[in-house]
Amino acid sequence: MSPHAIDDTHDPALESWVESANDPASDFPLQNLPYGRFRRTADEPWRIGVAIGDQVLDLQAAGLIEHPDMARLMSADLAERHALRRLIQRALRADQPRQAALRDALRPIAAVELGLPCEIGDVTDFYTSIHHATAVGRLFRPDAPLLPNYRWVPIGYHGRASTVRASGHALHRPRGQTKAAGEPAPRFGPSARLDYEVEVGAFVGRGNAMGEPVAIDGAEAHLFGITLFNDWSARDLQAWEYQPLGPFLSKNFASTVSPWIVTMEALAPFRAPLARGADDPPPLPYLDSDANRAAGAVDLTLEVWLRTAAMRDAGLPAQRLAASNFADAYWTLAQLVAHHTVNGCALRTGDLFGSGTQSGPRHEEAGSLLELTRGGAEPLRLAHGEQRTFVEDGDAVILRGHCARDGFRRIGFGDCVATVLPARTGA
Ligand code: MN
Repeated sequence: MSPHAIDDTHDPALESWVESANDPASDFPLQNLPYGRFRRTADEPWRIGVAIGDQVLDLQAAGLIEHPDMARLMSADLAERHALRRLIQRALRADQPRQAALRDALRPIAAVELGLPCEIGDVTDFYTSIHHATAVGRLFRPDAPLLPNYRWVPIGYHGRASTVRASGHALHRPRGQTKAAGEPAPRFGPSARLDYEVEVGAFVGRGNAMGEPVAIDGAEAHLFGITLFNDWSARDLQAWEYQPLGPFLSKNFASTVSPWIVTMEALAPFRAPLARGADDPPPLPYLDSDANRAAGAVDLTLEVWLRTAAMRDAGLPAQRLAASNFADAYWTLAQLVAHHTVNGCALRTGDLFGSGTQSGPRHEEAGSLLELTRGGAEPLRLAHGEQRTFVEDGDAVILRGHCARDGFRRIGFGDCVATVLPARTGA
């Protein structure tokens, strides 16, 4: 089903003349080559770059693309995409004779501004982790945590692109309506239950025409690659507003996306079988295929780290709160594409899918504070003495992700970080 086979571009023995890329701990070895957008100063246009070690290679300056047009690159056909991956890899390989010329097209990642990796179109947020759906459901409905449609239909809602921000931004705590149980009327004010959601973001490469559903075995050819995605959520606003049409202002005030799109090509060595239990029904035929069952999932370790203002002031590093794996998701990316288009809906280049919060089967694998603190009832004790039920002002939340498998180079995603500021004051 994946149109991207493991090939010589995944050879773990390949090394780059960019020394930092050969460090086994680097997120960006020669086998990864994720795309992003960067600029050196705020008044210049975005350039397209590929991360290599601690550097970014400017593809236009290196003579590898003609125009810095990410949408064009993302909507290219698969043969063109494969060819560009090979071209970039060859340019960065240790045996490359033109190193001196290419060196001028390198910039330290730390010295540039990283933007959104592409212009984002429509946003759809799914709910693919059955462990998250069950844990959250249990908080509200202890007797029947999982609603009966969950095992049959990929649940999702349409989100918003205008407030998706690149990693490194700050966001104000949102304000809105909340209503405490037992109170006769809602009140207006800052959210007291601000949360993160650890998600995978998938970007559409080539779209489909309205009225023309994408079959499951062709679905991945419509995806360009994936990022980390933090779907900031105000749980108290959400609880009051979500019925009957779903989340609205509790979700659309900010989302954070990591700066590099790891391509579907780079993920080829890290595919995994669809995770299903013995009691789960087989998917309906349009959501099912042998290839999807065998390798539709992605073995991607996701981590969430917290650095509070007090930790920053004391010079302490971030603390890891939880880790989970995208391979535990109940629905695969191909199933999401097939489902989203089965009614004739058109996807366009740059559309973004959120996977939904990724939680594993164990409590410590929870992808949100809502789950980790059991609805705020069990505060987390941080190593230096603070505690948290939800995110506080000054907290920086950092998502990290990597894929690792014996016989292949580990690849990573880079940090997806944002810092929470106090709510705005005034009317
Ligand atoms: Mn979400």
